[in-house]
Amino acid sequence: MISQELIDWVERQSDKLNRYFPVATKREALFGRVAKLTEEVGELAEAILASERLQRQEKLDGADSAHEAVEDIGAECADVIITTLLLAQQTGVDMNQAITNKIAKIDARFEKIEKGE
Ligand SMILES: [Mg+2]
Repeated sequence: MISQELIDWVERQSDKLNRYFPVATKREALFGRVAKLTEEVGELAEAILASERLQRQEKLDGADSAHEAVEDIGAECADVIITTLLLAQQTGVDMNQAITNKIAKIDARFEKIEKGE
């Protein structure tokens, strides 16, 4: 599901973040990663609102073109995924296994729906 190349990059990035933004405890690091993920989800929401021109006029006045807005959404989706992978790395979660398990649950749920159960 997730390439080894991306997993290796996340490991290296995590090491860099820990060096550049040192924290006293693992708990502090965990809360920092959760806060960062929340920030990135907010940025994704903002990009979507901007693309749909659902913001206050003063924000829309400096808004990107439609093409740039789609690029912004892509960039923020990438930030959310990367930040999630960093959080998973921090907590020792095997994301390939977690995604495999989740897909199986979703597929089973929809299979029941399609069978009318
Ligand atoms: Mg971002």
